Amino acid sequence: MGGSMSFAQRVCHLREEGAYVVLSKAQQLERQGRQIVHLEIGQPDFETFSNVAAAGIRAIKSGKTRYTLPAGLLRLRETVAEDVSARRGIAVQPEEVIVGPGTKPLLFFPTLALVEPADEVLYPNPGFPTYEAMIRVAGGKPVPVPLCEEKSFSLDVEAASQLASDRTRLIILNSPGNPTGGVMPVSDLERIAALATEHDCWVLSDEIYSRLIYDGLAYTSIASLPDMKARTILVDGFSKTYAMTGWRLGFGVMPRGLAERVSLLLTHSIGCTASFTQYAGIEALTGPQDQVESVRQEYQRRRDVIVSGLQEIPGVRCQKPGGAFYAFPNVTAFGKPVDELADYLLVEAGVALLPGTAFGNQGEGHLRISYANSLSNIERGLEQIHQALSRL
Ligand code: PMP
Repeated sequence: MGGSMSFAQRVCHLREEGAYVVLSKAQQLERQGRQIVHLEIGQPDFETFSNVAAAGIRAIKSGKTRYTLPAGLLRLRETVAEDVSARRGIAVQPEEVIVGPGTKPLLFFPTLALVEPADEVLYPNPGFPTYEAMIRVAGGKPVPVPLCEEKSFSLDVEAASQLASDRTRLIILNSPGNPTGGVMPVSDLERIAALATEHDCWVLSDEIYSRLIYDGLAYTSIASLPDMKARTILVDGFSKTYAMTGWRLGFGVMPRGLAERVSLLLTHSIGCTASFTQYAGIEALTGPQDQVESVRQEYQRRRDVIVSGLQEIPGVRCQKPGGAFYAFPNVTAFGKPVDELADYLLVEAGVALLPGTAFGNQGEGHLRISYANSLSNIERGLEQIHQALSRL
């Protein structure tokens, strides 16, 4: 089709996010009267913490409802700079912080600002689908890097070093990761840092799950390794840590020159992030943190229940993820493509979950199960999965 009905090349490859596709199928079944256990969407089932919500409401009531500077309120940028400095052990200045409506824009816009057509970008596969989408929109060449299942689903650094070259512009990391919950060991971060230095490329580190980490593991950002801050875009947000997915608030920390370019992209695309959301963000970071900790402990309990429940199902192998709120069981023993298996589990077991292939072809053989749901729903989901799989 030509003329006014054709679309620019840069959008033709875009696909739905798998989680929304499965959600809509699940809702269709619910409309027919079926009861579905929702383990597909990666968003906290907790309410936004009340002090944070109250700060947003206070901001609206007191008329803080106008444009802010595109890069965000200075007070929020200062607060983020202090928080990131303290948690990662690096010195961050407010000018290096850019605020956006969610974490996604801070992944997307730095990629647009850095990647030229034909530049190569290494990214995890299976990985968060936005990575491949934004690389392609930027005109870059996506270069998928597999993960090592036996090594906490860390990025396969051997493969990464084979794939990196002087055409590599950017390496994307996501630890703890979606869809696996895997946490990269510091030794792997060091090897990626060496690779980025050798090829003089940037690192985009998606650290949105950095506060959801279990078993007493400490979080290490690649930006805190020697000389890495100057070539790293550290991205984090409020969606997962403070249960604020609908508020839309995230940030990126990057060298000043890049921050200026990204701020200009924000100026001409979104204008600015909602003002009252930013006030809520200041309260999130400066207010009490005990709820972040109690929610983290609750996720850890759920993880333990879901992983041991999955390990008891004949044919299922499941690693214990070190972070985030996803389990990524290996179901290759059932000898079926996982998109069929996920459909089967939705229809036959009444459990909505995602095929690993929703995160790239290397996700074949796995399911992604979000445990951002109550223990009772998780237990019900496990029981129904167990029964349906034993019928195969
Ligand atoms: N990165 C990863 C790895 C995610 O899993 C998600 C949310 N599913 C995001 C980024 C997007 O987060 P936000 O809602 O802050 O845009």
